[in-house]
Amino acid sequence: MIVILIGAPGSGKGTQSQRLVARYGFTYLATGDIFRAEIAKKTPLGLKAESYLKSGKLVPDPIVIEIVAGKVVAGGKYLFDGFPRTVDQARGLDEILRKAGAQVDLVVSLTLPSAAAIARMSSRRICSKCGEVFNVISRKPRKEGVCDKCGGALIQREDDTEATAKKRLMVFEDQTQPLVAYYKGEQVLREIDASQSPEEVEAAIATSLNALGAKN
Ligand code: AMP
Repeated sequence: MIVILIGAPGSGKGTQSQRLVARYGFTYLATGDIFRAEIAKKTPLGLKAESYLKSGKLVPDPIVIEIVAGKVVAGGKYLFDGFPRTVDQARGLDEILRKAGAQVDLVVSLTLPSAAAIARMSSRRICSKCGEVFNVISRKPRKEGVCDKCGGALIQREDDTEATAKKRLMVFEDQTQPLVAYYKGEQVLREIDASQSPEEVEAAIATSLNALGAKN
């Protein structure tokens, strides 16, 4: 089973992914997490990707498609977060899946007004060790600045500062929003209002997944 989460930065893709992975046992593929890990390790891929992430631009499609192609194996149950981000990436993914004898089963589009997305990004904090996501307004850690899960230090993502957050939203509108029409055409799209509580959003996604026969 192949599931994709699309949504503006700050729409809650990461939060929902954590819940869906725990509930359905998906293999989680988040291209943003992959790039951040490669940058931290200063690998050749990380060095190539760094300037794009810093400025809020998209990493070029061929690089992203190659990474994903190297991670998908036939028969897998995948949840994609932050990929595809362009129609060309979506076509690349179709090709990768075709070779693996699979297809996209569900695309969840999390919708959120820009002002709310920017507010969420600027209050988001992530654990520098395990990547767990917190929010200084809506999901405070038990101890300020410390991850509840692993005790790591909480940091603000460099690209969550206001100027870069706005740039990322513009990139989303220009390059990722057209994916909604692409997947609508493929009849696999479910749009969900991301301004609801995380529990309500999860329940709405679960309704679609259960209808497809996803097992808990
Ligand atoms: P995210 O963690 O999904 O918000 O991604 C953070 C940044 O990583 C983006 O602003 C891009 O610079 C880069 N990135 C992540 N996924 C992709 C993708 N599928 N295509 C191009 N760039 C990506």
